[in-house]
Amino acid sequence: MFLVSLIPAFKDNYIWLLTRGQRAAVVDPGDAAPVLERLRADGLTLESILVTHHHADHQGGVAELVERHAAQVFAPASESITGCTRPLSGGERIDVLGTPVEVIAVPGHTLGHLAYRAPGRLFCGDTLFGAGCGRLFEGTPAQMAASLAAIAALPDDTAIHCAHEYTEMNLRFALAVEPDNPAVRERVARVAALRAAGQPSVPSTLADEKASNPFLRCAEPAVVDAALAHGAVDRSPTAVFAALRAWRNVF
Ligand SMILES: [Zn+2]
Repeated sequence: MFLVSLIPAFKDNYIWLLTRGQRAAVVDPGDAAPVLERLRADGLTLESILVTHHHADHQGGVAELVERHAAQVFAPASESITGCTRPLSGGERIDVLGTPVEVIAVPGHTLGHLAYRAPGRLFCGDTLFGAGCGRLFEGTPAQMAASLAAIAALPDDTAIHCAHEYTEMNLRFALAVEPDNPAVRERVARVAALRAAGQPSVPSTLADEKASNPFLRCAEPAVVDAALAHGAVDRSPTAVFAALRAWRNVF
């Protein structure tokens, strides 16, 4: 099994670095420079690149990385990804540094978006965030709700490795949705302490998200009521999700 650490990039992106001895893989290298610097500093050889979706801040560094390292590039088959050598559409099982990784299709943020599930961990790009979820740039609310439901069905202790540091902002919205949820209040304090100490708020656990992320709580009565007050057409999970996502867009 590999070790996992993170490489900050741009304003609030995280590139996940997987290492096993001197062998390395990265998830969503939007920028090559910080990855090359880390590979050089730690004497690592890049073997694999995993891309969750086509946005530039997730694949922008791939071309430069494969110029310098003979890495295979796993990426969504249906999206335009520079240098993709292993097109995937979900349901596959791939090998990353000798560890089996399951590929899960999670359309919504983009239509070909993939999540990569390693033992105990999920690399989910811009689908599920700390206390939030990605915007619907290409998919429908029903697609994204189904993708989040697939993630919610994983074991509670799954570490959730998302691609952005958005948790504090998302928790402000979570509090607006569920002002009386003690798990949200506790997480606000916990995340504020981490960020004040310069620490990342991720990875979280799926249990944490199920307790405090409104987008995974669309069947909770308090969340349903909040969504109905913000335009949900009915109490169905998809309608509740759609109303929450639209409300979050203007929050
Ligand atoms: Zn994106």
